[in-house]
Amino acid sequence: MRISFLLACLFAVGAGAQESLDALIDGEIGSLVATYKMLHAAPELSLHEQKTSAFFAAQLRGMGYAVTERVGKFDRPGQVGYGVVAVMNNGGGPTVLARTDLDALPVEEKTGLPYASTVRTTNDAGQEVGVMHACGHDIHITTMLGVARVMAALKNQWRGTLVLIGQPAEETVGGARAMLQDGLYTRFPRPDYALALHDSPEYAAGQVACVPGYAMASADSVDIKIRGVGGHGSKPEAAKDPIVVAAEVVMALQTIVSRENSPLDPAVITVGSIHGGTRYNIIPDEVNLQLTVRAYRDEVRRKLLGGIERVTKGIALAAGIPADRAPIVRVSETETTPATYNDPALTERLRGVFVQALGRENVLTGSPLMGSEDFGLFSLDHRIPSTMFWLGASDPAKLKESRDTGKPLPYLHSALFAPVPEPTLRTGVKAMASAVLELMRK
Ligand SMILES: [Zn+2]
Ligand SMILES: [Zn+2]
Repeated sequence: MRISFLLACLFAVGAGAQESLDALIDGEIGSLVATYKMLHAAPELSLHEQKTSAFFAAQLRGMGYAVTERVGKFDRPGQVGYGVVAVMNNGGGPTVLARTDLDALPVEEKTGLPYASTVRTTNDAGQEVGVMHACGHDIHITTMLGVARVMAALKNQWRGTLVLIGQPAEETVGGARAMLQDGLYTRFPRPDYALALHDSPEYAAGQVACVPGYAMASADSVDIKIRGVGGHGSKPEAAKDPIVVAAEVVMALQTIVSRENSPLDPAVITVGSIHGGTRYNIIPDEVNLQLTVRAYRDEVRRKLLGGIERVTKGIALAAGIPADRAPIVRVSETETTPATYNDPALTERLRGVFVQALGRENVLTGSPLMGSEDFGLFSLDHRIPSTMFWLGASDPAKLKESRDTGKPLPYLHSALFAPVPEPTLRTGVKAMASAVLELMRK
């Protein structure tokens, strides 16, 4: 009798908390949708998030957060970091970090939406490009503002320190590292948990998807310069042809994945760019390759990178290229990010929270991807439990049609990517606020 009374009280508390969260979101959703459309029409490229970060910071300051702007130290001289850190102290308790990214992509929007971006700018290479929030980081920013407001309004329900961050340069995977290098965990409270969400057209608006364990791959950019000895195209015996060596290298690199790596460990080596030579009858001096390398486990990542250097140099040696012309293999120190590993215990804990907030039918298990994110860096090599979940962004009817016909919906980075604003934002705020409240509940 007493137990059932206690259970009834507990359920009443749970339901009451959900109701107050729903009521708060109802009150905010109109202005959140307006904010989203405003941000969508005003995207900024990675490393240029000046106005977006200023807007994000001003909004958070207005809600009572202690806000620091321009957090982010990049290696490039003179580069301003447009990171934002907003802290709300609410007594002793856990520190929870939630992150949104701020940047958009050099994509010319073709959605035809009334709030579509018409922004054009000059990129760092001097080319004129269209700019679009084609990855939906505007959904993330707006969701974070909704979460910030909810948490400020429900201050009597939680304790601890909430750290909300706006990260620049996610698309170029430099922003997370730049914020950490600028003292994110020393100038500001170091979190006990780190959370993020990412919108996805693969799930319906109203749904979220969790991926326990490895969710996204590490990414490394590798440059290979194959040097030969140039000469006349009619006289190969007097030259060392780097094009033939490059061709062999491209094919042999795939055997690192298929023959040296366990088939149970996901790995990708893609040669995305190859350039050499100027015309028909000249054997050039060099060929340049650009690669992307993906893996989950760090051991596999290191094995792939080591294999690329060994295979490339070995093929050049076999071709008789002199030692002083050996290939130069350079692994980028800036275009690198570890895998996104969702702490399984934390992910399962939040799954339970999402089920309560959204209903069991709206909480799915997602598949891991070989795409990459720099959110994983905030976990400091898995030392800080962290998780990123997918936020459905597609019209359920269109998603069903796409599944029935087999015709995929426009994916992230597409000029046609168009999240459905209202239900996506509502679900994002509810899921993320419920997650944060779970970790900080009084
Ligand atoms: Zn993206
Ligand atoms: Zn993204």
